[in-house]
Amino acid sequence: MNVIDQAKTHGFIVEPKIIIPTKEVLQLSSVIDSPYLEQIRERRESLKHTRNSTIDFYESFFELHRVPYIVEKNYGIRKVEKRGDVHPFGLPIKKVKDEDTFFGSLNEVAILTDPEPLFYYRNISLSAKPTEITKLAYTHEIAHSQLNHIKGIIKDFNNTEVISILLESIHALEADPTERLLYVHDTNRLKDLYYIIKELNKYHSTDNPEIKNILLEGSLYLQSTLEAYELFLLYYYGSIEQKREILTKVQSLFNQEITLEELLSCFDISLESSMSTKRLINYIKR
Ligand SMILES: [Zn+2]
Repeated sequence: MNVIDQAKTHGFIVEPKIIIPTKEVLQLSSVIDSPYLEQIRERRESLKHTRNSTIDFYESFFELHRVPYIVEKNYGIRKVEKRGDVHPFGLPIKKVKDEDTFFGSLNEVAILTDPEPLFYYRNISLSAKPTEITKLAYTHEIAHSQLNHIKGIIKDFNNTEVISILLESIHALEADPTERLLYVHDTNRLKDLYYIIKELNKYHSTDNPEIKNILLEGSLYLQSTLEAYELFLLYYYGSIEQKREILTKVQSLFNQEITLEELLSCFDISLESSMSTKRLINYIKR
């Protein structure tokens, strides 16, 4: 499914749009592409450790809600689909070979019903060779499980990655006070962003539908990553009270008491504010 159709099925109010990188965003990309962020060798970790670290993180900071779940079961010669709900840590983990260690995917099924589709989750895919960073990918997907099936909780399609990227960053910081894990995280997350910025800058006025689709997906990651980092830096540099306020607002979002856009406006965060990249550049150079 292309990005436009994907957004339509989910019923976003603000449709996908291509973002043209500003001068400040281009400055950020050249800082990312510098020795400040160098790939270091990741430590191997068991899947059990990956799982436990994510469970510990969520149990320390949040109360998660059960999520819709779909499973295919074999009854003799018949295949029957069963639907129900499950705690997000009860979703099966599917190990995928040849995937990047930071890879994760929450596999959804949309059942087309009237008047709008219903969403169920089948499983969560992670790298078959987990390292220290795979737990952050798992945390990322668990955050998606709290939001992706709820229509209207996120209004702007380009904001769909904000909470997942925020929580993977907070997990990285909280799980390792030496900030090694945070460094490995930032390197992986921001190197991805570097290529996205490069593509958007070069091809943003294209008419080719396939390239357009790639750029729409890139724009989603650009906007979400910049906004997530703006929020994360408030957390990183903030007092205990400010940290608590951010966590409380994320919990309110999980409880469906506020929308994602309301959460962002509580902290004066928008695409425009997040494209002022000075603070993020200083953070990378710290
Ligand atoms: Zn995601």
